[in-house]
Amino acid sequence: MTLRDSKDPVIKNTQPDVRSGRKWTANLAVEEAESRLKHKEMVGATQLGRQGLGWTTHKWWSSSSDKERRKLVSQEIREAEEEKRLATAVGQAKQGAWTRWENVEQRNMSWSVLWQMEPLRISFLCRSTYDLLPTPANLSVWYEDKTDCCIACGKKGTLQHILSACTPALASGMYTWRHNNVLGVLVEAVKLQVDQNNVSQAPTNTKRYISFVKEGSQSRSYSSSSRSSILSSADDWCIRADLDGKGGFPREILITTLRPDIVIWSEAGKEVIIGELTVPWEDNIDEAHERKLTKYSELRAECKDRGWKASCYPFEVGCRGFVAHSLQKWLRDLGFNRRELKSVSRAASVAAESGSSWVWSKYIQRSR
Ligand SMILES: [Zn+2]
Repeated sequence: MTLRDSKDPVIKNTQPDVRSGRKWTANLAVEEAESRLKHKEMVGATQLGRQGLGWTTHKWWSSSSDKERRKLVSQEIREAEEEKRLATAVGQAKQGAWTRWENVEQRNMSWSVLWQMEPLRISFLCRSTYDLLPTPANLSVWYEDKTDCCIACGKKGTLQHILSACTPALASGMYTWRHNNVLGVLVEAVKLQVDQNNVSQAPTNTKRYISFVKEGSQSRSYSSSSRSSILSSADDWCIRADLDGKGGFPREILITTLRPDIVIWSEAGKEVIIGELTVPWEDNIDEAHERKLTKYSELRAECKDRGWKASCYPFEVGCRGFVAHSLQKWLRDLGFNRRELKSVSRAASVAAESGSSWVWSKYIQRSR
């Protein structure tokens, strides 16, 4: 495009023939993208959601510079490829299972991330996401003489069964260990956040800054400092996590046999936040969320009867490392900023994934 649309006629006439392999022709792809973009402009801005009529941030073909056009074309080609990939995946019952996961954050695997990962980890991540590991269920499909039974309990040995539903594995504490690993990562981050909040909300430290505005210029908004957090109402938050046998609901609120994973409470504000982590099979994230919400609904009601304001946050990290929206929401409500949110959820994702990888390797060892 750079050469083709050049203003210099000499360069314009010496276009090279771009050879881009048998499956894909650059010229054709560019042509298609261009016509799609032109068509989009003819259709115009369609109204989405509650946005105003005709409002758009879209760049139109006719009003773009050459450089912008090149950018638009490459973006369009990328989108078209992604669409194609999605269309194929939806049709694949097994490898395309991920297209049916709702409420899961998209995972971006950049080269820099992949570069730092160990080969074994990349292999487990890819093969578990697309269900291509040599599980008994898969082996029985690939080879005629293999049985599809789980070697530990005799049920159908799918990957879902091995990573989240095998009774002997549950009894031996493997799933609990994985769950506690993820919980540990989250508790550490949340503890820090709670401590920070307690310090910054304390009345002695409240400073009011006046920012001066130059004549004629506009004042800036305080988006970063006035981050809303459910913790900002008090400065005496305590946190207790159900790790190393230290859990349990605080007795000063009420006595119960339930042991939520994380309890954050404030005596002064009479407020309690219940957090509950599940590490389910990605397809079952919604179900796990609902189950935990029901499990704690009674406890919440009892807290309210005693004059405590109670909120419950069930959150999930899929056992293959896909983080649910619910976790992000919880962290955002606790006042984590975008960067912290990203790093915490990445750490939780790695913990879940490496836990599952370990569960899988144990299973393989056993079957040998
Ligand atoms: Zn089993």
